[in-house]
Amino acid sequence: MIYQDSKILLEVRGLCASVNGIDILKDLDFTVRSGEIHAIMGQNGSGKSTFAKVLAGHPAYEVTNGTVLFEGQNLFELKPEERARAGFFLAFQYPIEVPGVGNSQFLRLTYNTVQKQRGKDELDPLEFDDFVREKMKLLEMSPDFLDRSVNAGFSGGEKKRNEILQMALLAPLVAVLDETDSGLDIDALRIVAHGVNQLSTKDNAIVMVTHYQRLLNYIVPDYVHVMEAGRIIKTGAKELALELESRGYDWVSAEYKGAAKAARSVSA
Ligand code: ADP
Ligand code: MG
Repeated sequence: MIYQDSKILLEVRGLCASVNGIDILKDLDFTVRSGEIHAIMGQNGSGKSTFAKVLAGHPAYEVTNGTVLFEGQNLFELKPEERARAGFFLAFQYPIEVPGVGNSQFLRLTYNTVQKQRGKDELDPLEFDDFVREKMKLLEMSPDFLDRSVNAGFSGGEKKRNEILQMALLAPLVAVLDETDSGLDIDALRIVAHGVNQLSTKDNAIVMVTHYQRLLNYIVPDYVHVMEAGRIIKTGAKELALELESRGYDWVSAEYKGAAKAARSVSA
């Protein structure tokens, strides 16, 4: 929702980033205020996951230009784990399996780390068990998943739910969900969307990365952005997602190129 007294949580200006020496993000601007839900759409390979990973601090990606402020603080001065503790959360497109690390211990450790940072009470294993089971109910997840290794042998949809469970526990300020809808059947999609909607408040913000419109029927965005070749080339309201669904992306690209050409001829 767009609130009058919202504050800027994330401010990205002129962001450029590369991986293996290849430029992927090219002059990307993006602003997120508290209370808002954003959707970033775009064809495969447009740089959506790269953007998400750069924000999270993935070591393979090099920031070559631009700034990102997170609650006014230079995000790039923070290590990935410090970003997480400060309230930045990324649900991965491809969550990794961590055999040998119990899901319950992992979740409790991450939860307690963030609680400590916030000066709040940490939970012992028994207290945490009650707490996490409540959160799992929200996502209609079986408590059996607590006793297994993190994501090990989980189906695609189960991994996605486990990501959203982490989000529910950590209550991040800014959550980026990278293709959380992919691999979910329609029932799981509804459950996950319901969970995400319950987590959306006037104080936090959610950024959904997706190339399907379908998720946006359940989590309604305030803004829809189109990404192409590493930059945001159009921003609209929720209806833009429907238009993309019916008309594809080419017209947005043509419109952007036309506007860029016109700007060049004016300045020439
Ligand atoms: P999206 O999430 O929008 O599908 P990505 O951010 O995954 O797009 O990828 C953007 C571009 O960056 C693609 O052309 C992809 O091949 C390239 N890319 C991503 N990661 C790497 C990597 N580790 N090495 C080389 N190219 C990469
Ligand atoms: Mg991707």
